[in-house]
Amino acid sequence: MVMFFVALGVVIVVGDLASTFLYHVPQHIWGKLHLRTHHDRSRSYWDHAVLSRDPAIMLDGFLGALPYIVLAGALCTLGPWSAAGALTGLLLGQMHVWWRHTCEIGWKSPAWLVRFAKVTQIVLPEDHNEHHKDPDVEFGDLFRFYDAPARALLNSVRAFRRRRRTALKRLERIRALRMMRGTQRA
Ligand SMILES: [Zn+2]
Ligand SMILES: [Zn+2]
Repeated sequence: MVMFFVALGVVIVVGDLASTFLYHVPQHIWGKLHLRTHHDRSRSYWDHAVLSRDPAIMLDGFLGALPYIVLAGALCTLGPWSAAGALTGLLLGQMHVWWRHTCEIGWKSPAWLVRFAKVTQIVLPEDHNEHHKDPDVEFGDLFRFYDAPARALLNSVRAFRRRRRTALKRLERIRALRMMRGTQRA
């Protein structure tokens, strides 16, 4: 019985951690698929997160869900309670995907839910709506405590790339200068 809740907790908490840092954030840094599909501003996100059957959009959804599925698969081998908990976690995760995209069709969280979400750190549709308005904020599928470390990682990778770019440019200038001097001498 305890295993039901352990497995459920692992699927949603560790699953979100893995999906955020192994798929979502890397996609925002190096990828194109997620930005082209999930952050496609030419269509409603209710449409591309919930209704669409476009293969690219479904692939993005599947890759985002993969960490949860792998975890649930492993937990399923630990006995019937664990399996039931893992599958319930997957189901809740999927329901949360639908729910967190309902802002666009008019969802408004009541005050008690906002208070509850503040304590439990659960992502409200209003929070996820911010991620669609500005792709640099509100990371974490289910829990908001992954947002701060995700942003920190994103910023440090970007800063590193900027530094590398300036260093490379400087190197190029030095090389060009040396070549010029070389040709002058010759
Ligand atoms: Zn979304
Ligand atoms: Zn995103």
